[in-house]
Amino acid sequence: MVLVNSNYLKLKAGYLFPEISRRVQAFSTAHPGDAQLIRLGIGDVTEPLPAACCEAMTRAVEEMGTREGFHGYGPEQGYDWLREAIAANDYRSRGCDVSAEEIFISDGSKCDSSNILDILGEGNRIAITDPVYPVYVDTNVMAGHTGEVDASGRYGGLTYLPLDAENGFEAPLPGEKLDLIYLCFPNNPTGAVASRDQLKRWVDYALANDALICFDAAYEAFIQDAALPRSIYDIEGARQCAIELRSFSKNAGFTGIRCAFAVVPRGLKGRASDGSAVELRTLWKRRQSTKFNGVSYVVQRGAEAVYSEPGKAQIRALISFYMDNAAIIRRALTAQGLTVFGGEHAPYVWLRTPAGLDSWGFFDLLLHQAHVVGTPGSGFGAAGEGYFRLSAFNSRANVENAMARIARCDFAGSAAA
Ligand SMILES: *Cc1c(COP(=O)(O)O)cnc(C)c1O
Repeated sequence: MVLVNSNYLKLKAGYLFPEISRRVQAFSTAHPGDAQLIRLGIGDVTEPLPAACCEAMTRAVEEMGTREGFHGYGPEQGYDWLREAIAANDYRSRGCDVSAEEIFISDGSKCDSSNILDILGEGNRIAITDPVYPVYVDTNVMAGHTGEVDASGRYGGLTYLPLDAENGFEAPLPGEKLDLIYLCFPNNPTGAVASRDQLKRWVDYALANDALICFDAAYEAFIQDAALPRSIYDIEGARQCAIELRSFSKNAGFTGIRCAFAVVPRGLKGRASDGSAVELRTLWKRRQSTKFNGVSYVVQRGAEAVYSEPGKAQIRALISFYMDNAAIIRRALTAQGLTVFGGEHAPYVWLRTPAGLDSWGFFDLLLHQAHVVGTPGSGFGAAGEGYFRLSAFNSRANVENAMARIARCDFAGSAAA
């Protein structure tokens, strides 16, 4: 029989979302006539694609149906016109030194954050925040970079940096020397955003310790304050210690279209086993050329339209729509005496569960009393216990309706239930 990758057997059985479905299913079966459930648990966008992107993709499909406009395999790293548009609009216009050759178009940041492990070696000391986007953890488990999982869901061999209200959801700098650090700002799930000082401390740490930062900026477009950094490359020295992942999933609603990019700067190096320095960009280019055949021409034309004048305006409108949802959620929950975090520069509101309820206790309360589905904070890591995530990705009607239902909940009365 063929051998399997036994690292997969270390994975904690996909617990969070199956458990949510199980509880929702059980509730629906027990209360068949009840009001429709409103799902504020998902991390997926709900609004239609920006018109500029649709039009660009429609034109691209038509071109592909002609002899002159047909495109076969494209460059594995992406078409130059898209890489150039990204470099100009997302970086150069903001004074960040990133060039088109350092941008690698992909079919998603989820894949990029996983694939990057292909070019990194064994034995790196790896840090992730807790709570965290689970992909960073699970992909390291699959790659054999961890030990076994413990009862709290933490894997041996990983360094967990706890995020909580007490530290303002700002991960403490590690006391020890680490080699790879995953950071995500604006953050999923806590909705926290990083200040320039905070990112500078991380860049300084990485430079001092020869560490690599994997900076996930999937929610960059949701930053509302122009003074906040939008890229790790806003920080001096980041080109020597960080790669950045960006995606069109959350700004342009491309979750079902699939387009993202990784920035791997020239001159950013890792170490070979003989101690010599190796450029990561060269390895990444080699990895992508060998294992990836590029994102479709049609989709890349859709992504390019994000940077057109109409595209920019439509994206601003889309982001403000979701951020207005987030403000409605924040206001409603605050009015009810709940302590809320995030939701100001991110589409997620992170709240402290009230009345001594744990994350799943609050999940059950919202499900039963309000018929609203959210995400228990403990599902994102042990330190997420006692917190809960609500997503602003929904229609206005659903958000308003959900908040009206939550306003009628009795938190204190069910504390012991
Ligand atoms: C949604 C999301 C992404 C984007 O992933 P894609 O694969 O590009 O859709 C990346 N990181 C985080 C933390 C996310 O929540």
